[in-house]
Parts: sequence; structure tokens; C-alpha cells
Amino acid sequence: MSDRLPGFSTLAVHAGAQPDPTTGARATPIYQTTSFVFNDADHAASLFGLQAFGNIYTRIGNPTNAVLEERVAALEGGTAALAVASGHAAQVVVLQQLLQPGDEFIAARKLYGGSINQFTHAFKSFGWNVVWADPDDIASFERAVTPRTKAIFIESIANPAGSITDIEAISTVARKAGVPLIVDNTLASPYLIRPIDHGADIVVHSLTKFLGGHGNSLGGIIVDAGTFDWSTGGKYPMLSEPRPEYHGIRLQETFGNFAFAIACRVLGLRDLGPALSPFNAFMILTGIETLPLRMQKHCDNAKAVAEFLAGHPAVASVNYAGLASDKYNRLARKYAPKGAGAVFTFSLKGGYDAGVSLVSKLQLFSHLANVGDTRSLVIHPASTTHSQLDDAAKVKSGAGPDVVRLSVGIEDKEDLIADLEQALGA
Ligand SMILES: *Cc1c(COP(=O)(O)O)cnc(C)c1O
Repeated sequence: MSDRLPGFSTLAVHAGAQPDPTTGARATPIYQTTSFVFNDADHAASLFGLQAFGNIYTRIGNPTNAVLEERVAALEGGTAALAVASGHAAQVVVLQQLLQPGDEFIAARKLYGGSINQFTHAFKSFGWNVVWADPDDIASFERAVTPRTKAIFIESIANPAGSITDIEAISTVARKAGVPLIVDNTLASPYLIRPIDHGADIVVHSLTKFLGGHGNSLGGIIVDAGTFDWSTGGKYPMLSEPRPEYHGIRLQETFGNFAFAIACRVLGLRDLGPALSPFNAFMILTGIETLPLRMQKHCDNAKAVAEFLAGHPAVASVNYAGLASDKYNRLARKYAPKGAGAVFTFSLKGGYDAGVSLVSKLQLFSHLANVGDTRSLVIHPASTTHSQLDDAAKVKSGAGPDVVRLSVGIEDKEDLIADLEQALGA
């Protein structure tokens, strides 16, 4: 064996997996079982007391899910990961370890619509207060910090327009405030951006999107960078204080640089319950094997489609960070040199009616509410996901009446352009 460190594509195929020790199966088996037999009574007691690692019950951990966890941790450059049932479940589990009722977290205003909703409404009922900041104005994060701030949450490539966030600048604010930076890396995937390399302490994903990549399985994951010191100032009691449910152990003291991932598993997943089905873990693992190939094709197609749209007479403007003329192109070249992702928006000169007409005439692009599928997808946010907002709020969130969002798939780019051409022209 050479002592070379494996590259990204090698890790995407191999990290975490080995032939099944009992059957020799080469693909990772789906361990479709709820529970696991203990060797003896002492073994059972040590598993329950966190003195030994092993399988107990699939709500706490499962061998198929464990391969997925190890693989994504390797791709992101983290110390450990925890797979859960959806991207939204990952966000709940992360913040439950960090916030007590009455605490605050700062979030970038440009986020997936579902996250804006979750933070504004569901989290309010837990007593967790979101304070919004503008990712294009780093000082707005600094101004939002108070003694009750426990975390900062951003997206690396942000919804809906695919803008690029200055992760390093915001990580500097987080470090100064003594709070962890959480980065939702769903739209970039670790192939395009590895937020931990730029100062993120925690990375979350909706595995449902580019990592799974085929639009067939929901999932979410939390990656622990192992960089944050949870013991300072008693700000994070879930990690630094003795845990009554585990004989008084302190997670940071016992588990060091993967204590956060352990907390998410043994305090979050175990008690809140959003476990990932091993079947979905298998589907997502299979998807990840081709992540580098798919992601490059997604980006190359998106750039070609964005260039076509930018030159079309019915199009008023295109927001794609991969275009040299785009406001985010400098950040794209710094953070995502291989490509600026495949989700972006453009606006039509014909306004609302033109948007509705376009989505109804497209044939290859599916009109639906998802991103990160092999298939190309389209949505007109003003008549669907953002229809409940008034016109001013629609415009502010980047979903004005004239805006159309694409998630460009991995088909032949000539076919995608021809489809857009017939739908725009007819
Ligand atoms: C889809 C999505 C989520 C939520 O993930 P689910 O798997 O649908 O729960 C969170 N963040 C981003 C950026 C997303 O695209």
C-alpha cells in the first residue's frame, strides 16, 4: 500500500465501506433490522453507558447508516457525522445541542424557504429566537451578536439565486463572538466547497439533494469539524456539563473532538427520534459514488444554460455566480473554482404571466419543488413556494413575480437549451 492520501473521487467510492466481513458482499448491505443482539450482559451494559461503541437499536445507529456517516465526514474533512431522516431534522438536532429556551442564533436572510419557515415559526415554539442578518453585509452579523447568541447559520451557496457566501469572513465574526459557525452545504456539496476548510465548525446537509442526487430518497446529515471548544464559559451545558442520562459523564471531556457528533446522536437523535431508514442510507451512498462526475456535469450544464439565457431577448437578467459579469463571481472563483453550482434564478421581461407560461411550456424541465436531481427542474416561486408572501416580501427574498428558478440536471446541454428556446419563444 502506498502512503498517498486518497483523493476526493476515491473517498466518494470507498470511504467508510469494506466488504461485508461475514458474506463478502462488496456493496454495503442494507441492514434492515431494528435491533442488534448483545454478546452478553456486560456488553449490553457498557453499550448503554457509552463505555463501548456498538449497535443497540436503529434509532440510535445502524451499520448501513454508519458507512454513510463515515463517507460524508471524510468528504467534508470532519471528525465524525450523524445521518438523520431529512435536512430539516439535521437542523433541529444541531440547534437542540446548542440552544436553551430564550437563547438566540443568527441566520443569513438568504436561505432555503423551508429553513426560513422552520426558524421563524417552529423554533419559536421551542423558545429559540432567530435574528436575521444580510450575507452581503458582514457587519450585520457583528451587530446581531448578543450575550444570548449561541450560533451563526449560513448557506455556502444560498437559495434561491445561487449566491456565494463569504464563509471565511463570517467565521471570523463567529470566532470573535465565541460561537460555532454552522454551514448548510446542500447546494454546493463537498465536491464544490468544503466549508470546514474555510472555518465552519458544523456542516449540515439535505442529503435529499445533490449528495443522494437522484430525487428518490430523503435524508440529512450533520458533520462535526472537531474544531470548537465547548467547555468555555458554560455556554453549552449539553456538551460541557455532567449528563444525568449517562451516569454523569461530560461529553466534551469524554469524546474530545467528536463530542458534538456524539451529543447529536445520544441526546438529539435518541430522544427526538428522526432516524434515517437504512434503505435510504443505501440509496444515498450509491448516489455519492458518482457525486464528482454528476456535480461537474451539473455545473458545466448550468453555465451553458445561464449563458444562453443571458443572451435571450425575453430574459431581463440572470443571477448565476459562474458568469463573469455576476456580482458573486469573485466569491465563486475563490470558494467554488470547479463550478458555481446548478441552482440559479433569472427574470423574464414579461413578468408574472411570462413566468407561468414558461413553466407550463417546458417539456424536459419538470415543474416541481425540489433541487439537485439528475433531471432538470424548474419552478416559478411567485406562484408556488412564495405565493403566500406579499409582493414586496417576494422581491426581498429574491422571488419577485418575474423570477424563475432552475436546477439544471445532467442531460445533454443542447437538449436543455432547445427546450428553453421553444418555451421562451413560443
Ligand atoms: C431541501 C433543503 C433543506 C431541507 O432538507 P429536507 O431534506 O427537505 O428536509 C435544507 N436546506 C437546503 C439548502 C435545502 O435545499
